[in-house]
Amino acid sequence: MMTWRAGYSGLAVALLAATLLSPLSASAQGAPDFSPMALADNLDFLRANTPVGNPSTLLYRGEGFVLVVDPGLEHTAELLSETVAGELGEGTLYAVTTHAHRDHMDAAPALPRPLVQIATAHQFDDLPVQPGMTRLAVDGEISLGGGAVRIGNFPNAAAHTGGDLWIHFPDAGVLAVGDHFFLDRYPIIDVAGGGDPAGYFANIDWMVETFPAETRVVPGHSTFGPAAPRVATLGDLASWAAELRNSVSVIRQMAAQGLSEAEIVEAGLGPRFVHLNERPRFVSEERWIGFVLANPPQR
Ligand SMILES: [Zn+2]
Ligand SMILES: [Zn+2]
Repeated sequence: MMTWRAGYSGLAVALLAATLLSPLSASAQGAPDFSPMALADNLDFLRANTPVGNPSTLLYRGEGFVLVVDPGLEHTAELLSETVAGELGEGTLYAVTTHAHRDHMDAAPALPRPLVQIATAHQFDDLPVQPGMTRLAVDGEISLGGGAVRIGNFPNAAAHTGGDLWIHFPDAGVLAVGDHFFLDRYPIIDVAGGGDPAGYFANIDWMVETFPAETRVVPGHSTFGPAAPRVATLGDLASWAAELRNSVSVIRQMAAQGLSEAEIVEAGLGPRFVHLNERPRFVSEERWIGFVLANPPQR
């Protein structure tokens, strides 16, 4: 298995490329900043406006506890820590990471202590152990606050990484899916870090079948500033996955006709898929074509 640092290097390159190639909002270049969106009285969506992307953080205030979903990047760590400290009082602090990519977990060590870290065993391989942190590994499903928060493994461990989690807030009707959803963009699927495209798509199908139709879905990466943060529906998630599958079919058909990767990139996938390639983004159409060709369905 790849180490955390080796796994990160590819993502770092992707994030750096996105940063260099993408226009950034004014706030993204300055002081640490979140764009907040209230999803319920006790649940806030915080979209980071950072130099290296827009990872989604959730802050949930339960009975006697606070839960942070995906603490995010170091750039916003101190700001998040101050916000959490202001909410916590005498309660217990939990932090769950949807997966072990640094844009979702680097801020965890800056959170107040004691801290209960929730992750998969796969993720704990990559999470630094520090004083005042207790580990709670999810193997199946756990709940907090008497079922107010449900946290579980996906049916396919190999998906975005080798171990991702979903977090469901039944009362608010909100589902955090981490990087199983890049809103309106091509996804990163971290094969070097244990991910697998087939598992990724199968997990999306599973979510669409499993959770109530009216569920609001928080993508791992939502809109970019200065646009307001946006959550999606399960229908949006299903439509996005269907469009990605269509793009995969188009790429494979072109390859089957004898076109080289360079020729497919040159020809392009057509206007239907242009919205997935808009900047700012993490994965260009060119990179997506290369990824699809490098990861055939039966490996
Ligand atoms: Zn990720
Ligand atoms: Zn991410």
